[in-house]
Amino acid sequence: MEEFVDKLEALQILEREEFKELLLCNDDYIFERARCVAQNVYGKNIFMRGLIEFTSYCKNNCYYCGLRAGNKEAERYRLSKDQILECCKTGYPLGFRTFVLQGGEDAHYTDEILVDIVREIKATFPDCAVTLSIGERSYESYERLFKAGTDRYLLRHETANDEHYKTLHPDSMSCANRKKCLYDLKKIGYQVGCGLMVGTPNQTLEHIVDDLLFIKELQPQMVGIGPFIPHSNTPFNGKNAGDVHLTLNILAILRLMQPNLLIPATTALGTLDTRGREQGILAGANVIMPNLSPVEVRKKYMLYDNKICTGEEAAECVNCMKNRIKQIGYEIAISRGDCAEFQR
Ligand code: SAH
Ligand code: SF4
Repeated sequence: MEEFVDKLEALQILEREEFKELLLCNDDYIFERARCVAQNVYGKNIFMRGLIEFTSYCKNNCYYCGLRAGNKEAERYRLSKDQILECCKTGYPLGFRTFVLQGGEDAHYTDEILVDIVREIKATFPDCAVTLSIGERSYESYERLFKAGTDRYLLRHETANDEHYKTLHPDSMSCANRKKCLYDLKKIGYQVGCGLMVGTPNQTLEHIVDDLLFIKELQPQMVGIGPFIPHSNTPFNGKNAGDVHLTLNILAILRLMQPNLLIPATTALGTLDTRGREQGILAGANVIMPNLSPVEVRKKYMLYDNKICTGEEAAECVNCMKNRIKQIGYEIAISRGDCAEFQR
């Protein structure tokens, strides 16, 4: 096991069987090395992103997600430009220098509307980065949003294996298009984040190796990894949630494989384990994404059951996270938190 960790740390690629052994390992050595690699690049700084969940409408029907169009029980909402700006105004004095606008695939938000929102945020907060996470769009649309000032884009690939992808999504969606979008975003010049859920139904270790190899090829700036958590009003109701330890092993492998990655300790990790986010940081993560959405809408953005931090004001979330991070010897940096290769 240690041999494979050292090989990864020396930036050598592993054989599929070697990756599988690391995925299954139960040894703190991998976390110790991953932490060390993260600290060599980013020190003990943890970057903070303010998550603004601005629409719960979605035209898609991903089998795992509570926002899927087919979930008739879901309460839908949209935030106006003013409401989104209010979230940023709340976040700035709390130390946020990145705002992540996330939502379902909602045709209401045309390029024109989004360009206007992004421009206004960038004009009001010129020292902040804007990240979009609004699913698959055309090359032209991504280009317009980039030119409006968007810095980053998060689009988890969910699974790099075509067959597995088909068991998680209806025929209207494809693994090939998801990957094409990621390459388009990179080409345009965004800092790009892909990512996966761990423990989705039908996922095997081979699929996870496919994910690692895809990430190696794409060379994104960010990777979001969280355990799958079932939602009761979806076709995956009653399925098992993903494994926290496996999630942490994947996170550590990624840190070793690509030392400068921005890797969040996700809310899903914190939902399955009260110390999940701390464990994520201790396995090599360096980003946290507290919720900046207005408290009135939080419970309506239910990707999965029992999502945490849906009742607290932003300031409470930030204070809670600051304390948790301090307790494990890290510190929140007031910074845009660009990927090391992008720092200016
Ligand atoms: N609509 C956009 C962004 C919102 S969904 C998109 O799909 O890209 C953001 C992420 O939430 C998804 O990429 C998925 O990885 C995660 N997610 C959705 N349902 C989930 C579930 N049941 N458990 C854990 N994560 C989930
Ligand atoms: Fe829509 Fe994203 Fe949920 Fe899929 S994962 S249903 S695209 S919000």
